[in-house]
Amino acid sequence: MFRMLGMYSVVFFLLVLQIRGDIRQEALQNNSMFGGDMAGGISVPEITNSADGPVMAFVPNTNYKLWTGGVLYYEYDATATRNDQVLSAAIQEIHDKTCLRVYPRNGQASITSYVRITTTEPGCWSYVGMKTTGSQQLNLSVSGCWYVGTVIHELLHAFGFNHEHQRYDRNTYVTIQEANVEAGALS
Ligand SMILES: [Zn+2]
Repeated sequence: MFRMLGMYSVVFFLLVLQIRGDIRQEALQNNSMFGGDMAGGISVPEITNSADGPVMAFVPNTNYKLWTGGVLYYEYDATATRNDQVLSAAIQEIHDKTCLRVYPRNGQASITSYVRITTTEPGCWSYVGMKTTGSQQLNLSVSGCWYVGTVIHELLHAFGFNHEHQRYDRNTYVTIQEANVEAGALS
């Protein structure tokens, strides 16, 4: 009897792991966004549908630029569920490994460009670069986003990083093996 229970609990544990993995993956795959998690910004192409399928065009977005001195300010939205432990660990890793800096805005009115962290919408996503005309949303859904790696990933988008394999100049540096691209995915 106990052996059976033990076996079931192992199976259940593996199932939970599997489901958790899926939630984490899916949270980064928002269909309407370039790369699954970039809502707009510096280097994010506009996607339009033509008769031949979706077409990408890189249109410079002058409302976004890089953060002054590599310093990004953030604030939790009033509706957000805070997770200071994961956020602090993510920021610590960015500080340890890069020259980029992430600081709380603490309501300072003089800081007009800042990241506003929300947790109520689906998925994990960000704008790319610093919005020059006010705050910008960065969503980290309570479901599937609060992992140190995911928070770092979205903060780096906010800093201005694109996915390396989706950079407009990537073909100068790498060869995409199209046979390995999932059907229906924009390469
Ligand atoms: Zn991303």
